[in-house]
Amino acid sequence: MSTDRYLKFAAPVLDEATIAGVADVLRSGQLTSGPWVRRFEDALSAFCDGRPVRVLTSATAAIEVALQLAGIGPGDEVITPAQSFFTVLNMIVKVGATPVFVDCDLVTRNLDLRQVEAAITPKTKAIMPTHWPGSLVDLDALYALARRHGIRVIEDAALVIGSRWKGRRVGAIGDLVSFSFHPNKNMTSVEGGALVLNSDDEAKRVEALRFHGITHLPDRTRDVAFPGGKFNLADVFARIGCGQLEQLPDFLAIRRALVDRYFERFATDPACVLPPHPQSDDGQSWNMFSVLLPLARLTITRRQFRDALEARAIGTGVSYEALHLCTLGRRYGHGDGSLPVTERIARETVTLPLHAAMTVADVDRVCAAAAEILAAARR
Ligand SMILES: *Cc1c(COP(=O)(O)O)cnc(C)c1O
Repeated sequence: MSTDRYLKFAAPVLDEATIAGVADVLRSGQLTSGPWVRRFEDALSAFCDGRPVRVLTSATAAIEVALQLAGIGPGDEVITPAQSFFTVLNMIVKVGATPVFVDCDLVTRNLDLRQVEAAITPKTKAIMPTHWPGSLVDLDALYALARRHGIRVIEDAALVIGSRWKGRRVGAIGDLVSFSFHPNKNMTSVEGGALVLNSDDEAKRVEALRFHGITHLPDRTRDVAFPGGKFNLADVFARIGCGQLEQLPDFLAIRRALVDRYFERFATDPACVLPPHPQSDDGQSWNMFSVLLPLARLTITRRQFRDALEARAIGTGVSYEALHLCTLGRRYGHGDGSLPVTERIARETVTLPLHAAMTVADVDRVCAAAAEILAAARR
């Protein structure tokens, strides 16, 4: 066994000022949604060039509420990449709609817009793309397509807060955009998510959808006109989110320097497929560094590769399994071989450690370990 410090593949960084701020919130007696939620929403709105933003308990909640806000339900189709997290499948099914899966690019992992266009039917109500670290979905082409067909877009931006498209931040442009503040993401509120909206009317509707469907009447009683959920964020979490948003540029700079080091040092034999190579001033953020293993040229499985890193005190993840091949996903018309790029990524991908508590020396340790394990397993 290794005596090195265990390196998680993802981890948050919380500063003492934020921790002290949480203690202040706890002492204030105002624990659930209150002034810190409004401050967090105002800060996120400023971050998104003034568009309305509402926070919720997770990106999963934000996506469910976005689907409801767009009026999507039984009989409707939503086009989404099969190379994404379970959230997108689950929430489409949960609102009663049908997921229509498309394939993606091998390197950027973003959905293939030609396949999206080909999948559009009279029942299509929305496109729900997932943005990948290192390369955003082409927002010009995506919105041109959506406008041409009169359909809505719900961007799953869980992994990419801070990324820019032609100088504008993700969330500052577009239709509905959701962010995640899970501890594995670029910034955290422990659990939490946000939805960027088009108008104050949409924001009002989200306030009802996230809190029991309640609206307030002039006589100070309440009404419920549609079934809302219980997805309001607590002030304790919003306080953490405020502290983290201020530090986001620093976190992203650290992640970027670590990724630059990965690209400098990541030499394996046989070679892995790497993420898109960073260009200076490309505006991309880096939440994950995921590589594809050359399994056909190795004597070991992915499981054995991950176990060998684990034995060297290096954590890894799988991002992501193929949604159309999970038990729920198979109900929607797909089987093995139908989305080959997604399936290859699902078989070969390994997410290596990348987070703002790491150093360049940690990256070197991962690169050396991966090179050694792969060289020893060459066919
Ligand atoms: C993490 C993640 C989600 C879900 O975020 P939660 O805040 O945990 O609900 C959704 N989509 C993608 C691509 C993610 O990585």
